[in-house]
Amino acid sequence: MNRIGVFGGSFNPPHLGHLAAARFFAEELRLEKLWITPANVPPLRAALRGAAGADRLRLCELTFAGDPRFAVSDLELRRAGVSYTMDTLREIQAQEPGAALFLLTGTDQLQRFTQWKDWRGILGLSTLCVLQRDAAPLALPPGLPPERVRLLHGFAPLAISATQIREQLGAGEDVSPWLAPAALHYIKEKGLFDCE
Ligand code: ATP
Repeated sequence: MNRIGVFGGSFNPPHLGHLAAARFFAEELRLEKLWITPANVPPLRAALRGAAGADRLRLCELTFAGDPRFAVSDLELRRAGVSYTMDTLREIQAQEPGAALFLLTGTDQLQRFTQWKDWRGILGLSTLCVLQRDAAPLALPPGLPPERVRLLHGFAPLAISATQIREQLGAGEDVSPWLAPAALHYIKEKGLFDCE
């Protein structure tokens, strides 16, 4: 049975913390393929300010390039509207018949996972895999079935977020430690995130 991963996010912009998480996930779960799906409109968030979908997609392609397991997909952007994970899993399941699906999130998302639309259905279609993101504990919150959630211990997250990168770019600060060089080049060339 194919082992297929799914990694969604705003990726506004994608950064080296995302890349490290994707690599760790692919290794730990022995994935054949990892779908990376930038959201059109992320649920449970204030309106997205930053880069347009087409630019976030291109930035993902540049950031996640070079690993044959990684497949950046525009399926959430094409679907338009709010990007619900359940819809994404259904689409991927249709394209990967019979595969075992593994969904990646950081601990920040785990705390509010039961607010996700159709979270029980998500756990029916995929195994939720969680890695350390911030200070929030890597532990199963009450109410989630342990057999459908895997806590991925041993990941040391980069202390970075896209929000911080957007702020630093807006202030003209150096963000090169946090971004793939090709992604930084694209951001500068297109003047994204109010950078010079
Ligand atoms: P923002 O600051 O705009 O909220 P973000 O940096 O948190 O953005 P998202 O696109 O919202 O990035 O995150 C997508 C997924 O990547 C989430 O599951 C999140 O937990 C995970 N993630 C983000 N940054 C890191 C990091 N530094 N280390 C590990 N996982 C991360």
